[in-house]
Amino acid sequence: MSPRIITIDGPAGAGKTTVSKALAADLGCVYVDTGALYRGVAYEIQNQNADWEKDEILAEFLTGLDLNFILDGPDLTLVSSGKDITPFIRTSEISMLASAVSARPEVRATLLDLQRRIGMNQDAVFEGRDMGTVVFPDADFKFFLSADISVRARRRFDETGDQGKDFQTVQAEMSRRDHDDTHRKEAPLKPAPDAVRIDSTHLSILEVVARMKSYIQNS
Ligand code: C5P
Repeated sequence: MSPRIITIDGPAGAGKTTVSKALAADLGCVYVDTGALYRGVAYEIQNQNADWEKDEILAEFLTGLDLNFILDGPDLTLVSSGKDITPFIRTSEISMLASAVSARPEVRATLLDLQRRIGMNQDAVFEGRDMGTVVFPDADFKFFLSADISVRARRRFDETGDQGKDFQTVQAEMSRRDHDDTHRKEAPLKPAPDAVRIDSTHLSILEVVARMKSYIQNS
């Protein structure tokens, strides 16, 4: 029997990570944060000072890239060439660079294989932007989680403080990333036609998880 795959897509700050972790723990399967992979690419580009806008350099960079997850608990460890880079990928600079490089088809193709390989071996909840549309079009359950921009920005601001940035800046950066992720040619952020849409503007994390569980149990 093939592994059970659940996808949760949506914009930044919609609560995907907390919800995905809770759902995966409840269902006893692994949780995979695919945004971390795009952040890993951005981190290595920054680290190696790679001129990624040049096709040949990007191709060479991607050939040498060795990213992987250690999936042994609720918190993921992202490893690049054997080194744990998890602590370095959550800055706002990396968020913006991840969004920019994720528009490149070569980057997406490299990460597509890796994501599908992870999904071949175990039941998993995958969170990202194109999980239900591109990476796992045949997923068993698909969800699209959204919320009003002001609520999402407030959550991000309260959670991280975002390196001393003021609320307006956090909201403006999030809104720009949403725009870029939604309007790119390659695998844009959009709900799969068969995804269950949940607006978490007025819902708690527990309420969102309860809705998803009830949908899964009753299908
Ligand atoms: O989810 P997170 O905010 O960590 O993702 C960082 C960036 O990676 C997103 O803004 C998006 O551009 C990109 N991404 C993507 N496809 C995914 C996951 C993330 O393009 N499946």
